[in-house]
Amino acid sequence: MSLKNLPLEDKELQDLIKDVPTPFYLYDEKAILNNAQNFIDLFKWAPSFINYFAVKACPNPSIMKRLFDLGFGADCSSLPELELSHKCGLPGAKMMMTSNDTPDEEFVRAYELGAIINLDDITHIEAMENALGCVPDTICFRYNPGPDRTGNVIIGNPVEAKYGVTKDQIIDCYRIMKEKGVKHFGLQTMVASNELDGDFIIETAHMLFSLTNKIYQETGVKLEFVDFGGGVGIPYQPEQNEMDVEYVSEQIKELYDNLIVRNHLDPIQISFELGRYILGPYGYLISKVRHVTHKYKDYVGLDSCMADLMRPALYGSYHHISVLGKKNDPKNKMYDVTGSLCENNDKFAIDRMLPEVERGDILVLHDAGAHGHAMGFNYNAKLRPAEYLLTKDGTLNIIRRAQTMDDYFETLRFDGAEVEV
Ligand SMILES: *Cc1c(COP(=O)(O)O)cnc(C)c1O
Repeated sequence: MSLKNLPLEDKELQDLIKDVPTPFYLYDEKAILNNAQNFIDLFKWAPSFINYFAVKACPNPSIMKRLFDLGFGADCSSLPELELSHKCGLPGAKMMMTSNDTPDEEFVRAYELGAIINLDDITHIEAMENALGCVPDTICFRYNPGPDRTGNVIIGNPVEAKYGVTKDQIIDCYRIMKEKGVKHFGLQTMVASNELDGDFIIETAHMLFSLTNKIYQETGVKLEFVDFGGGVGIPYQPEQNEMDVEYVSEQIKELYDNLIVRNHLDPIQISFELGRYILGPYGYLISKVRHVTHKYKDYVGLDSCMADLMRPALYGSYHHISVLGKKNDPKNKMYDVTGSLCENNDKFAIDRMLPEVERGDILVLHDAGAHGHAMGFNYNAKLRPAEYLLTKDGTLNIIRRAQTMDDYFETLRFDGAEVEV
C-alpha cells in the first residue's frame, strides 16, 4: 500500500493556491529533500556514494540546485542538460554524460567541463577521439547484457534495446582504452525502468560486480566506479508497494564485500542515476475542471492536457487523482478524465471512480514530480504550464513561469520573411 497524501490538508492547499492560474505543477521541497537525504544515508557504507540526478526527470535549476547541495551529481544526456547543470554551479567531475547517438559537440563540451563521458558504443571510442583530438583521463562504458538479462516494460528487452556495449565488445572496450592511455575507468548499465522489485537491482549489482572481476582478469583494468543507472520505481497505484531500498542497500553491500573487497578490487565508488525515485511522488499536476459532460460515457474535462503530463497517454500509466475538498466523499462516480487536445488519447484516466465532480473543482494528479513537466510538448499550440515549489517554510515560490504566446511565437515570423537564425 502506498498512501496518496497531499503535501497539505485540502483546505490549506485550496487557500494557498486560490490565486494561482491552473494548470501548474507543484513540488514539495520538504518531502523531496527528506527522501533524497534518506536515500544517500542508506548507502553510507559505500565508498564516495553518489546519485547522479537524471536531469531529464525534472530539468529545473531550483530543484537541481537543492539536490546538488545535498551532494548529488547530475546525469546528463544532451548539451543543454550539461549546460543546465553547469549553470547550477555543479563541477564537471560530478556530471555523468550518459548519451546515446552522441553528437561531436557533446563530447567536446563534456570534455571541456570535465564531465565523465559514458560511451554507449564501441564505435564511439573513435568518434570521441576524433571529436576531442585526444582521449580523456577518465572513461566509462554503458553495458548491455543482452540475452543474459530480461528487461521490463518501459525499458524493453536488452536484446532489443538500442543502448550500450554488448557482452562480446565490453572487454575490448577497456583493453583499447587502456592502450590509449586512459587512467580511470568506470562501468555503467541501466536495465530497468520504474522497477519496484528490489531483487532486480540486486541482480544488476551482481552482474556488474562480476563483470568488474572479469575486466580486471582479462585486461588488468581496475574499475574505480560502478554505476547502476536509474530505474528504481515508485508505486503509482495505491495498491503497489515501495521498493524496500534498505534491503537493496544491505544486499548490495554483501555483494560488494564478497565480489569486490574479497577480490582486492576495492574501493570502488558506487552510484545511481535516479530521477523518478527521488522526485516522482513529491510533484503534482494541479488542474481545474472546465466541463463535466455526459455522452456515451461521463467525462471530466480539465484545463490541462496530455501536453502537460504525457505518461498516461504514452504508456497507459496510472496517476492517482484527488479531488480537493472531497476527500471524504464516496467514490461512486465513474469518469474518463480528459484534456483538451484534439486527440482521443488525451485522457489522464479511463473509467476512474471519483467522488461526484463539478465544474470548478480542483483535481490533483499525483506522482508527477519526475518525467512530468519535462516530457511536455506544444501540440495543438498548447502552452507549457508553470512550476511552483512549496518551500519548507510553507510558502509558494514560482520556479518556472508558464510559457506565453510570445514565447511560442518567438521562433516564427508572420511577414513571410525567413526567420533569423
Ligand atoms: C532516464 C534515465 C535515468 C533516470 O531514470 P529514472 O527512471 O528517472 O530513475 C537514468 N539514467 C539514464 C541513462 C536514463 O536514460
